[in-house]
Amino acid sequence: MSNKFIYVFGPSKTEGAADMRNLLGGKGANLAEMCRLGISVPPGLTISTEACTVYTEQGAQSVQNLIAAEVKQGMAFVEKEMGKTFGDAADPLLVSVRSGSRASMPGMMDTILNLGLNDEAVVGLAKKSGNERFAWDSYRRFIQMYGDVVMGLKPVSKEDHDPFEVIIDEIKQKKGVELDTELSADDLKQMVREFKALIRTRLGREFPNDPWEQLWGAVMAVFESWNNDRAKLYRQMNDIPDSWGTAVNVQSMVFGNLGEHSGTGVAFTRDAASGEDIFNGEFLVNAQGEDVVAGIRTPQQITLEGSHRWAELAQVSESERASKYPSLEELMPEIYAQLLKTETALETHYKDMQDIEFTIQEGKLWLLQTRSGKRAGPAMVRIAVEMLKQGLIDEKTALLRVTPDRLNELLHPVFDKQAIKKATSIAHGLPASPGAATGQIVFFADEAEEWVNGGKDVILVRQETSPEDLRGMAVAKGILTARGGMTSHAAVVARGMGKCCVSGAGAVRVDPRARTMTVGSKVYKEGDWISLDGTSGQVYEGKVPTRDAELSGDFGTLMQLADRYKRLAIRANADTPEDAKVARNFGAVGIGLCRTEHMFFEGDRIKSVREMILADDEAGRRRALAKLLPMQRGDFEGLFREMNGLPVTIRLLDPPLHEFLPHDEAGQSAMAKEMGVSFDEIKHRVDDLHESNPMMGHRGCRLGISYPEITEMQARAIIEAALNARAAGSDVKVEIMVPLVGTVREFNAQAKVIRETIAAVFKERGAQIPYLLGTMIETPRGALVADSIGKQAEFFSFGTNDLTQMTLGFSRDDIGKFLPFYLRDGMYECDPFESIDQNGVGLLVKMAVEKGRAARPGIKLGVCGEHGGDPASIEFFHRVGLDYASCSPFRVPIARLAAAQAAISD
Ligand code: PEP
Ligand code: MG
Repeated sequence: MSNKFIYVFGPSKTEGAADMRNLLGGKGANLAEMCRLGISVPPGLTISTEACTVYTEQGAQSVQNLIAAEVKQGMAFVEKEMGKTFGDAADPLLVSVRSGSRASMPGMMDTILNLGLNDEAVVGLAKKSGNERFAWDSYRRFIQMYGDVVMGLKPVSKEDHDPFEVIIDEIKQKKGVELDTELSADDLKQMVREFKALIRTRLGREFPNDPWEQLWGAVMAVFESWNNDRAKLYRQMNDIPDSWGTAVNVQSMVFGNLGEHSGTGVAFTRDAASGEDIFNGEFLVNAQGEDVVAGIRTPQQITLEGSHRWAELAQVSESERASKYPSLEELMPEIYAQLLKTETALETHYKDMQDIEFTIQEGKLWLLQTRSGKRAGPAMVRIAVEMLKQGLIDEKTALLRVTPDRLNELLHPVFDKQAIKKATSIAHGLPASPGAATGQIVFFADEAEEWVNGGKDVILVRQETSPEDLRGMAVAKGILTARGGMTSHAAVVARGMGKCCVSGAGAVRVDPRARTMTVGSKVYKEGDWISLDGTSGQVYEGKVPTRDAELSGDFGTLMQLADRYKRLAIRANADTPEDAKVARNFGAVGIGLCRTEHMFFEGDRIKSVREMILADDEAGRRRALAKLLPMQRGDFEGLFREMNGLPVTIRLLDPPLHEFLPHDEAGQSAMAKEMGVSFDEIKHRVDDLHESNPMMGHRGCRLGISYPEITEMQARAIIEAALNARAAGSDVKVEIMVPLVGTVREFNAQAKVIRETIAAVFKERGAQIPYLLGTMIETPRGALVADSIGKQAEFFSFGTNDLTQMTLGFSRDDIGKFLPFYLRDGMYECDPFESIDQNGVGLLVKMAVEKGRAARPGIKLGVCGEHGGDPASIEFFHRVGLDYASCSPFRVPIARLAAAQAAISD
């Protein structure tokens, strides 16, 4: 830790820079960088993240003692730059206090504006600005924010309104006006009195009149907000370490609410939902900072083109648009030209899509923030590919710009076009975040969570969302808001989460108290079904059916690029020809795992499986297996045909047999009837097969060792299918895999049955086909003796699900009871069944790779546990030198990209 905690920025001196974001947070670093680029930024100072660490570890007083002298100096710098004095009654310097951590956390922490105003300074500000109304409006906003954020005055319950807003509404009602802007300076003075009285009665404290007391209170509140629930949750959801802390930016105020030549807005250098290379954004005339993001007033568009597009979506006529909602381009052409120049300069400088905040104070443009813009998955892909084509970034950067998991959003279903034509559209809003969502209406975020925990699909419907709604937004299928634009909290957060969102659906009237949503004369209640199209902004009644997404050209370009950089091959876990087809379309270069047991459940073959289980002797089992043989052979033929030219790994039966029997009495008596045996016989067999730890019981190769006739049947089905498929013209590449091997003797015993069966088939058919015979490495012992197994097996596929279960001693099926506590307390950094435990289980994998290669140079090595589709695990598998990873078909593109990123970062 350094002994410097304060870094100033302004036209005459700037101490920070873009590469100091760990110390200054993203906002502080970028404010400094903009100053260095000569962009007009209100001067200020950044208190470093290290001060936040001191706050967390030692408390408020310690950090204040440590940084007080530096803060004084920093404020003196800002005073000099602005030619005003903090706390001056005649012409006060006012500041904003904002959080800003290393990673952007939009709206997650707190902001205070107009700090420095008090009962004397407000009079001075009124005189100096010649605008009494503005001065008192600024003061009442400050008290409201400070009262809420620093002093903690909140609504009593979730159904309750903000107590400050209640006062505002009462005053407006008394005056008979609708808009805040219609209130006079005297009304605002009264409001200030009432706000202060509210604070006094509710909190038993006075609102602080001393600007320095205000400042320290605000700084500590920002530090404290690093640890509020929503910030913690956001960090959890985005893997941001708690230890980073936040910086605090104290910046001189500029005012967007000084009249018709002032305003404030938010802009994106490209479209954050679609990725289109088009400058866009929203602003409000005569408004202050938070008004745009809060989504309370309908914002206007920055560009004329955007304004036309908006009017079409919002069904606003051209004359109404031009008179009531003109674009900035029309309203303030010079400011617009400057803004356009600035956004181009910023995007070119940062080489990434920027999210910009600006304020216009009486005809002068000020930039308040620039950061890499949050974007939806499809936008991530399009922006990366287009920036590459535009020569702004290179191939590697383009690949690294896309978060693999976000590709999910491109692969997810969209509404069926035919179904949409028949669906009843009830409202439309802004297409804030793409996707299709269907669910039941709920009006509160916490209830969304409850409903979802109860197994329901919900759409969270809100007047507007606030950061408190984060949890509910995360679990909802989609979000619908009545107010707010493309830059409202709901829109920004939804795009960040990849969640479908329609915002600002003006025709929707939300009444949270009555738990209804009204459109025209129609009332929708909590629990009613609606569907949202986040790509078009339409809201539909009821459930609208979906179909598979069409993959865009940019997606294809990105995937081709990924294939050029990756070293790991990506296969899929697929059990049916349908899955295999999906996997192939997504670019899988083989099947890494076909779990044959899944075929046992299909159609009436479960009956033959049960016959086999009920059989008392080998002859009985063989009779049942003979019925299964043609069905399995048919399935395998389908797989081989679908994967023509690509390898297919088929695994022998793995699960314990009881999984094929019903466990409840009703099911057992139904089965007895169907099989023509007594209920008791069934029940007896089920009891007989009962195991205390079935996952460590009679399963995997243990089944084949007890009942070699099962292995025999499967080996025959596989090789006969391979011969048939080849005869029908397919290029067949067969790989047969033995599960759950712990000693080479198990493998040898099964290998003998398989090889002898196959030799017999070859003889019968008078034809041969090459095949590989390998094993899963999924028991710790199997990994430990991988050298001896490697001498016999022709390939290894790591079954990291079982390997994790057995190495950690965590039952796969029972982790739900304790894993949440383990994750909460940091026993493991993440769910070890989702992302491989590199320091533990990973060591076994690494060792088995080395031993396997030493025993059989060139041995083919892969992984087929769930980890094969997890980007962090893929990076690990790349590093230890596996040949391929196999994952579920829908994760194949994610895995391809992750494999390319692993190769680039290597
Ligand atoms: C594994 O254990 O990782 C594996 C792929 O097999 P299963 O999940 O079928 O046990
Ligand atoms: Mg397994």
